[in-house]
Amino acid sequence: MSNYPQLKLYIGGEWKTADGAPVLNPNDESVLGIVPHATRSDLDNALAAAEEGFKLWSRTAPAKRAEIILKATSIMRGRIEEMAVAMTLEQGKPIAQSRLEILRGCEIIEWDAQEGRRVYGRIIPSEPGMRHSVLRQPIGVVAAFSPWNFPMSSPARKVGGALSAGCSIILKASEETPAGAVQLVQAFHDAGLPAGVLNLVFGKPSDISEYLIPQPSVRLVTFTGSVPVGKHLSSLAGAHMKPAIMELGGHSPVFVCDDIDPVSTAAKSAIGKSRNAGQVCVSPTRFFVPDAIYDQFTEAFAEKAAAMKVGDGMDPANQMGPLANERRIEAMEMFVADAKSKGAKIAAGGTRIGNRGYHFPLTVVADIPDDARAMREEPFGPLALISRVRSLDEAIEKANSVPYGLAAYAFTNSARNAEQLAESVEVGNLSINHFVASAAETPFGGVKDSGFGREGGVEGLQYYTVTKNVSHLTA
Ligand code: NAD
Repeated sequence: MSNYPQLKLYIGGEWKTADGAPVLNPNDESVLGIVPHATRSDLDNALAAAEEGFKLWSRTAPAKRAEIILKATSIMRGRIEEMAVAMTLEQGKPIAQSRLEILRGCEIIEWDAQEGRRVYGRIIPSEPGMRHSVLRQPIGVVAAFSPWNFPMSSPARKVGGALSAGCSIILKASEETPAGAVQLVQAFHDAGLPAGVLNLVFGKPSDISEYLIPQPSVRLVTFTGSVPVGKHLSSLAGAHMKPAIMELGGHSPVFVCDDIDPVSTAAKSAIGKSRNAGQVCVSPTRFFVPDAIYDQFTEAFAEKAAAMKVGDGMDPANQMGPLANERRIEAMEMFVADAKSKGAKIAAGGTRIGNRGYHFPLTVVADIPDDARAMREEPFGPLALISRVRSLDEAIEKANSVPYGLAAYAFTNSARNAEQLAESVEVGNLSINHFVASAAETPFGGVKDSGFGREGGVEGLQYYTVTKNVSHLTA
């Protein structure tokens, strides 16, 4: 297909083709291209290139680094249409959401590039003749693993952080949605990034992570994906004494308080839930709603969900595209059947649409019991679970009862409720009266099984540096 790019590995500043596996369009299951798989010798070459790249890039002035990085994002901004088309073809999200993802990816990289000029150390006062200088130096070669749900903005987080801090990086992007990373890397190549600073590989994920993480030159591991894989990769990193950033799954609660308008909040909730068909680690999932507004909220949510247009993401009239792969359809069917068998009511959606392409409607599951599997396991799809509660205390207790702790949302006009939520909800990100979990300038990440480390903000960049104290006796 001509509007889908040719997929290649990028090692030591050169593009390379190889045999690999087909990439499917989730809208109709047609083959878009072949994603090349790196061999062991490709990985060795990428490691050698990244080591050389690090020597050069870590000694490049921060202002020069920022200039090259910003040139790359300016190139990406000029290619937004072709990038958005490729993203919708391979991942399924509506074309308008693909455009937004590319803009957001650029914003993330641009913020990091500017902040990379302000990675300051400090001088600590001491006795006369002694000077303590705290240096913050780039950590080294980064091994990064990005998932299929955000083909461009997830690689952007990792590439932006690493390059802005002066590190080199080997990115293993998703084999199911590889074009976003290929196009991002192409922009850096075209911007004149020196060879070896940024390398891109694909392959069997476990083969690549298990080979790269133990390598002595790899100094930081960053992974976005599921909790089980995150636990495996963080143990591997730990066994080799490597620090890691783990952005894992979530199971976001939404606290719908009784002091707000349930109908307009339900409308906002349906839009929030439909984003990327719910395949988002911060997707709003468990809606805790008090008795007083429960029926109004649920009816309005179901009405909005039923009216939502689902179909080919290339058609701008569609508000929700297909799910990204067959595994998600199987998961939605399992969660819905389990919830029904335990007494939940399907207020909207609930069954697959058609049998070619992975289309599933926005599904509202009302009166969901606490023991339904979807209430404890991350659905990672378009399921909105509505749970009736008697008080905010009860909602908070239920919200905190799962092992996840990534994002939470609340709708309230009460300062007292807001304060109670900020103090007691166990998450890394709480958004009150809106559904945006993070911005380029704010730290993003989880607690508990949702992982550790932060991406974005001043905090995010720190993970790509090491602190060195130099104490100098001059007298
Ligand atoms: P999965 O657990 O098989 O894979 C999750 C991700 O990890 C994929 O991108 C995959 O390529 C990668 N991966 C798997 N094994 C790996 C390994 N050994 N080394 C390196 N990378 C590896 O699940 P899946 O079916 O692809 O995705 C579904 C689940 O993944 C969801 O339930 C969700 O929890 C999670 N997920 C989370 C995010 C996120 O943004 N945090 C993104 C995508 C998927």
